[in-house]
Amino acid sequence: MHFDILTLFPEMFSGPLSASILGKARKSGLVSVDIWNIRDFALDKHRIVDDTPYGGGAGMVLKADVLARAIESVRGDSDTPVIYMSPQGQAFNQQLAEQLAKLPRLILLSGHYEEIDERVRQHWVDFELSIGDYVLTGGELPAMVVVDAVARLLPGVLGDESSFRQDSFQDGLLDHPHYTRPAEFRGLHVPEVLLSGHHERIARYRLKEALRRTLERRPDLLAKKELSTEERRLLRELAEEYSAEGRVNDNESD
Ligand code: SAM
Repeated sequence: MHFDILTLFPEMFSGPLSASILGKARKSGLVSVDIWNIRDFALDKHRIVDDTPYGGGAGMVLKADVLARAIESVRGDSDTPVIYMSPQGQAFNQQLAEQLAKLPRLILLSGHYEEIDERVRQHWVDFELSIGDYVLTGGELPAMVVVDAVARLLPGVLGDESSFRQDSFQDGLLDHPHYTRPAEFRGLHVPEVLLSGHHERIARYRLKEALRRTLERRPDLLAKKELSTEERRLLRELAEEYSAEGRVNDNESD
């Protein structure tokens, strides 16, 4: 899959795109990324990319002509979607990452300063994505978040393909707890079932713990999930445990 990133600060991308899993995915050709400097599309001799806002007010606005030229040049004749990273965009989540991972190519536009010219948003951007309800100084970190979340879903990028299938949000649940050696550390023991070698019991334990975690931390996810018979049964078990412990769980779902 190919990503084109439009930014005023290309240098911000070198570390995150070169290290670890993304770095390997790029070396092996599973993922390719081109970073385009928006300033290269400014035609005046000072290569000006921004200007003061019409109507007054604080901050600088990225210019429509420069951004339109950059987008048109990078997109060419293709129908590659242009995504503007913006706190006003649709909330980015795992389901969106999965949908984007099916595409061959994406163009990500990172804004900076106060805003981009509204006309670019309306006529050159296909959709907007937000990485959360807070405002960052620029769209570079959000673009990296999207590249990372999408790239790790591509076949071959993670060593073990099954590892993302059990991750949080993949099946509407949070991930179960994980342990590694030693089996006992300062009197703290790994749950016995994980040492049993009994695959079915382990799978059931993990599903139950994923349900427990989701119920306790993100009941909103459970409310949206279509539960299997096994999941309903395990939730009933959890409810019984809570009531035996005298705990009330307001988030019980069944
Ligand atoms: N004035 C804008 C507003 O209030 O909606 C915020 C502009 S912000 C200071 C500068 C740039 O950072 C934006 O153009 C966008 O590209 C990026 N940005 C900031 N927060 C973001 C978020 N939560 N998700 C995605 N992009 C974000």
